[in-house]
Amino acid sequence: MASGYIEIDEELCKGCELCTTVCPKDLLEMALDRFTPKGYHPAELVDPEGACTGCAICSVICPDAAITVYRFVPAEKAGVS
Ligand code: SF4
Ligand code: SF4
Repeated sequence: MASGYIEIDEELCKGCELCTTVCPKDLLEMALDRFTPKGYHPAELVDPEGACTGCAICSVICPDAAITVYRFVPAEKAGVS
């Protein structure tokens, strides 16, 4: 299984919650303890066990392009020796 992680740009996130509805691993939550500069609760990755696969579904659905996805590729598949 591939692994990955995401970064959410809180300058761009408008707290619409869409990403929280599509993650197959249910790893996205709204951070109710803080606000973005624009006054929204931002989404955040809650992944203590490293379950994110880097599938990018959250990034595709985000209307504000606030999510950057990083996916780890084994060195042999990446052509690195
Ligand atoms: S990349 Fe996939 S698994 Fe990771 S947080 Fe986004 S939707 Fe969930
Ligand atoms: S879909 Fe994008 S704008 Fe909406 S809560 Fe998630 S990161 Fe924020």
